[in-house]
Amino acid sequence: MSCIFCKIINGEIPSNKVYEDEKIIAIHDLNPQAPTHVLVIPKMHIACADDINDDNCEVVGHIFAKIPVIAEKLGLDGYRIINNCKESAGQTVMHLHFHLLGGKTLGEKIV
Ligand code: 5GP
Ligand code: ZN
Repeated sequence: MSCIFCKIINGEIPSNKVYEDEKIIAIHDLNPQAPTHVLVIPKMHIACADDINDDNCEVVGHIFAKIPVIAEKLGLDGYRIINNCKESAGQTVMHLHFHLLGGKTLGEKIV
């Protein structure tokens, strides 16, 4: 499996972990776009949000249940959650992940 995030999950590639349990990990982004920029990633390989379905969606709920825990651990007050789905939306790593951004007053918004 050539997926970078699967390699990080397997420990083949090092990462700066902020949270881990049996279903997900959260790591600091290599190229942060805010003072705090963490990626919350399911351990199960799901390529993108478009591949979420009735059989695998439980982990997405789990991610959203743990984001407040991760945010508190990071000392974030407000934060932005972003998911890029597929290349046309800017997704560069084809393993589902949610960007958690904060640590400053966040400016420009698309929505
Ligand atoms: P996307 O562009 O797919 O929404 O987000 C992928 C993110 O993964 C980017 O923000 C990029 O900086 C980050 N990234 C890519 N490779 C690595 C890596 O090897 N380690 C970590 N920690 N982040 C990575
Ligand atoms: Zn993967």
